[in-house]
Amino acid sequence: MTYKSLSNTGVSIPEVGLGTWNYHAGVEPLRKGLDAGALFIDTAESYGTETVVGQAVAGTRGRVFIATKVSPEHFRFNSVLKAADGSLKRLGIDRIDLYQLHMPNDKVPIEETISAMEQLVDAGKVRFMGVSNFSVAQLQQALKATRKYPIVSNQVRYNLVDRTIEAALLKYCQANGITIIAYSPLGRDFQSLLDCDPGGALADVARLTGKTIAQVAINWCLCKDDVVAIPKANLTAHVLENCGASGWRLTAEQLQFLDRSIRWRRRGRMETFLRKALPQPLKSACGKLVQRLSPGVRRRFT
Ligand code: NAP
Repeated sequence: MTYKSLSNTGVSIPEVGLGTWNYHAGVEPLRKGLDAGALFIDTAESYGTETVVGQAVAGTRGRVFIATKVSPEHFRFNSVLKAADGSLKRLGIDRIDLYQLHMPNDKVPIEETISAMEQLVDAGKVRFMGVSNFSVAQLQQALKATRKYPIVSNQVRYNLVDRTIEAALLKYCQANGITIIAYSPLGRDFQSLLDCDPGGALADVARLTGKTIAQVAINWCLCKDDVVAIPKANLTAHVLENCGASGWRLTAEQLQFLDRSIRWRRRGRMETFLRKALPQPLKSACGKLVQRLSPGVRRRFT
């Protein structure tokens, strides 16, 4: 397993971690992933998986980097402190390695939330502060609100077919030493990734490299500077396969071939707004519709 620096902290983390949203397979797959070197697990108070993560790391805690998240409805000062205590208890640990604001909440001043996060660092309950789903502007506001400790990461959706962050956020984070934690690196459901590859480019590259399609897709994320990825898998076979996405690199030619062949897109402002405003089933339908458009039309729409 290759490690990457976590921002400028001097700490390195595995470039492939274990995502746990919608995870319901018990401790076994997670333990196999840890054994295979993915000593980095991502969870959140809202996922309902902190307890199983705690059980999976029991015995190896000292070697595992544990990231969890506070939900936006808990962004008031005292609620952040209370939420962290709840996460620590469910995880069965005394310090969270990376505590992330799950998504922006413009109803609570960011200064108040960051101040609570810094208090948690002072109290030794949190090691590093991170955010998730923050745009460049939101990240800048959060950075401005910090007094004592840096924001070391931003966890955002990034994969071969959804390259929205390339418009600005990726470069901003790279320039400011903020690690990008790529979520949904397999497109959230693997089939949606394959649907955007009608010519079978992923299979071609998999054949050339002797890797699998999933490994090629995850490695594509890892080829970017300052990006680590957290695929989620319920199947142990998938967990192990995903760990094999690390330790090697696609060549520049293979990257260019994938960039040319896959029907990728960046969400525009309109789509981002609709995704925030629409209920989940409509969001998915909207995303699928955009995916079916031809590349030219799609770019104009998004
Ligand atoms: P993902 O990791 O892109 O995809 C998960 C899907 O891919 C599951 O259906 C899984 O199947 C399948 N899969 C996994 N490995 C595979 C393989 N080797 N071959 C074929 N299929 C494979 O999607 P995600 O769960 O949305 O994202 C990963 C993690 O990112 C989450 O678990 C969570 O920790 C984090 N996340 C964060 C946010 C946020 O707002 N911060 C949002 C979404 C996700 P099985 O489960 O059946 O194995």
